[in-house]
Amino acid sequence: MSEYIERGALMEEIRKHIETIGINAERLVARFAPADVEPVVRGEWQKVYENTTFGAMYRCSICGETTFNVENYKYCPKCGAHMSMERSGSGE
Ligand SMILES: [Zn+2]
Repeated sequence: MSEYIERGALMEEIRKHIETIGINAERLVARFAPADVEPVVRGEWQKVYENTTFGAMYRCSICGETTFNVENYKYCPKCGAHMSMERSGSGE
């Protein structure tokens, strides 16, 4: 299983301890290509209002997109953020 690291952070750590690790470690890490990954953006569906006709309308906490039936959207259809329900203590 692949694991991804932030190469820049590892290089910084190696530079801090270069006296004990040795310069070869820094060169070894520098030879590795960065992993082709993107950071995961996580958002929340925040309830805007609720009515009896359409049910609850929610807003994406990242881009502000609004929609109904958020249970159908694991990802925001506009910005692609990985969505969960808001964790606020709004009493709902
Ligand atoms: Zn969004």
